[in-house]
Amino acid sequence: MTQAMKQDVYELLKAYEGQPAATAGTGKDLVNEPMIRHWCEAMGDTNPAYAGPDAVAPPTMLQAWTMGGLSGHHTGRSGAYDELLTLLDDAGYRSVVATDCEQEYLRPLRPGDAITFDAVIESVSERKTTKLGTGHFVTTRMDVRAGGELAGTHRFRILKYAPAAAKPKERPRRPRPVINRDNAGFWEGVQAHKLLVQRCADCATARFPWLPGCSACGSQEWDTFEAGGSGTVFSYVVMHHPPFPAFDPPYAVGLIELAEGVRMISNVVGVPYDKVRIGMPVRLEFLRVDEELELPVFRAQDCGEG
Ligand code: ZN
Repeated sequence: MTQAMKQDVYELLKAYEGQPAATAGTGKDLVNEPMIRHWCEAMGDTNPAYAGPDAVAPPTMLQAWTMGGLSGHHTGRSGAYDELLTLLDDAGYRSVVATDCEQEYLRPLRPGDAITFDAVIESVSERKTTKLGTGHFVTTRMDVRAGGELAGTHRFRILKYAPAAAKPKERPRRPRPVINRDNAGFWEGVQAHKLLVQRCADCATARFPWLPGCSACGSQEWDTFEAGGSGTVFSYVVMHHPPFPAFDPPYAVGLIELAEGVRMISNVVGVPYDKVRIGMPVRLEFLRVDEELELPVFRAQDCGEG
């Protein structure tokens, strides 16, 4: 649409301001105790003002007394509101969202009150752009009367809009490892396609993940050796939820026991997530995740048991 056409549409929409949305509507029921009780139970509202011989209706029930229910209202409809919505549809604003509601209460409603109402198209906004998209806000105002006397007003606003085009998203990258002086040697090994395991220089206990001291003897002296790369699935979980942006659930996360005895958490690849099994033999390989990141992962091996 050109700017001039948009302006023309707005002029057309604007002409509906002040036109009726409903005229001479009549509440289907008198204000009554059973509806008040059901409402209070649904809302969990135990205010004593809404029960007993002097009960009033909860003020926020205002609109409830005007609603047509499943069968609708057979009187009081006005064509103007439907015409306005059709005009907005035709201008490309086909989506709708209720944005807010304001009510004013002028006098309490009591069982026995007979409700009548009129509604007017109060305003149509200029073209606005929100996060959802671009369109026009339409505000209707309903005047609710009890026994002919104004009891409250109910203002209801919608946005009729054309949804904003979804921006193509770049796929988020997998989280980076946190590399510090205690584990830098491990990541240097990964870069060289070596899976390095720490070994205590005093008691020779192998350990993984990398730590500054030996949990067996407390020594802080250590060296490393390169794992041979064979292992088995010691345990695993299948991630379904929550989804993390860089991952496509469901996927299996394995706790791999290396032939050297240490265990590490990694992905099991080369097998569907629901075919991963405890005891499954796996073999180390290095997965290039992106231009910066490589990770050790474990490929399921044919275990020869079908
Ligand atoms: Zn040790």
